[in-house]
Amino acid sequence: MDPERQQAFIPQIKSRLTEIASEIMSTSDEAAAIPPDVSIGRLSRLDSMQHQQIALAGKRRLEDERNRLLEARRRIDAGTFGKCLLCGQDIDEQRLSIRPDAVVCVPCSQKR
Ligand SMILES: [Zn+2]
Repeated sequence: MDPERQQAFIPQIKSRLTEIASEIMSTSDEAAAIPPDVSIGRLSRLDSMQHQQIALAGKRRLEDERNRLLEARRRIDAGTFGKCLLCGQDIDEQRLSIRPDAVVCVPCSQKR
């Protein structure tokens, strides 16, 4: 993919990164543990622990996506954005417009 077209993805990556940052901020409170000295009863503690697990898993997913987007940003700088890591072919631009963090093309991702 030519560099100009690679760079056209930068605004999209940036705005998704901004979104992720605020989503991580909002899950941080939920993911925080309730201190054991706070008396909330056994059942509600289990409940909140479960809630905390879900919040943590969600946060981890967001952090993974953020890392992939940062990697995509580096790949644009390196001029390798949009190239499949497995076969070296250009990744379909429609796929990239939905998933700018994609690093393999559709045929390769289906093979896995
Ligand atoms: Zn491929």
